[in-house]
Amino acid sequence: MDGNRVLALGLGVTAPWRLVEQRLDTDRQPHELHLRVEAERGAQFGCPVCGRLCQAHDFKDLTWRHLNFFQHHCYITAKVPRTNCPEHGVRRVQVPWAREGSHFTLLFEQAALLLVREMPVLTAARMIGITDQRLWRIVEHYVAKAVAGLDLGALKAFAFDETAARRGHVYVTIFIDLDRRRQPVLFVTPGKGKETVARFRAFLAAHGGEPGRVVEVVCDMSKAFLAAVGEQFPTAAVTVDWFHVVQLFTKAVDTVRKAEARLVKMPGAVRWAVLKAGDGPLTEKQAEALAELESGGFLTAAAWRIKELLRWVRHAETPRAARWRLTHFLRHARDRIASSPLLDAFRAALDTVETHRHRILQRWTSTHSNARLEALNGMFQLVRARARGYRNVDTFIAMIYLVGAPLPKLVNSI
Ligand SMILES: [Zn+2]
Repeated sequence: MDGNRVLALGLGVTAPWRLVEQRLDTDRQPHELHLRVEAERGAQFGCPVCGRLCQAHDFKDLTWRHLNFFQHHCYITAKVPRTNCPEHGVRRVQVPWAREGSHFTLLFEQAALLLVREMPVLTAARMIGITDQRLWRIVEHYVAKAVAGLDLGALKAFAFDETAARRGHVYVTIFIDLDRRRQPVLFVTPGKGKETVARFRAFLAAHGGEPGRVVEVVCDMSKAFLAAVGEQFPTAAVTVDWFHVVQLFTKAVDTVRKAEARLVKMPGAVRWAVLKAGDGPLTEKQAEALAELESGGFLTAAAWRIKELLRWVRHAETPRAARWRLTHFLRHARDRIASSPLLDAFRAALDTVETHRHRILQRWTSTHSNARLEALNGMFQLVRARARGYRNVDTFIAMIYLVGAPLPKLVNSI
């Protein structure tokens, strides 16, 4: 087998195409390897629409960037014919090594996608020597294609949440399959209102799913979301996830602390940071910081205690115990804030919990893990790092799919 044939195999060049010339251009930095591919003389080509074999009507030189050859950039140039099919007229034929309209070979795009799964797009773009806009275009193309092929036929329970795509209040809403532990993302759409739930229902129906078979939906306590779920998935039980309950109270503690700091001198910010860090059981250092706040008679300590009491509610083992603990929690918290106007920040949080009590308690009868939305936050951080320098909501959405959705065929399908 001669060298040209070996190279041609590696390029995905198949008959009637063959490699006819290779030239290393050492005048450019990095050096460029130029490969020239031609069809055999007199070869016939299939019409891109119907496949009917036709003579070449005319030719045009097209060039594709190919995988680097060691440190050299590599380009393939070919005279690509147009066919003149009696039925479909004059059309440019498809070459086997690149997809229509792309300036890169399939192998180049495949390598680019493999990199993007492992590192930020900007880094990958620099590594392979193309602009990040171009790399994003490749990513978006293959992600859209893979998402179009998602099968939601087995979906029975989902959760959804919104996140900021970037500063300036641009949001996207993400829907995940509660029965998938890994890569649970099914659908990502711009916005954070009712319309996002309607769009998911349409997506579900278009991907083999049956909205009436959804038995459980997990979300936060936003009125728009809850109303939309009631309309679009009327037969599903709605569970408010615990993560959002804790979030409400964390915000309330922060409000109390800020209000108190305006009135009296508080112990150092460092102590507060120690106390605030992490949501697990109190560490020794955190307990010290809390004791310091308490011995100073600070209301921030009382606020912290209210929030911590939530943990006691969460550890209830039966639905009945949970109901009892939540009732007790609400009563205790209301008593506590009644005597201290500074703790009023808790009133709205307590009212919200009261309103959604049955949906919050649903987690004790639900068969699905409710820690999923919390886990999503970790994924969003990864996505933001990967999409650093991204330009718009679409690139952010593409990256969420790439990192979080079950798209195994993304690369294989090339
Ligand atoms: Zn045709």
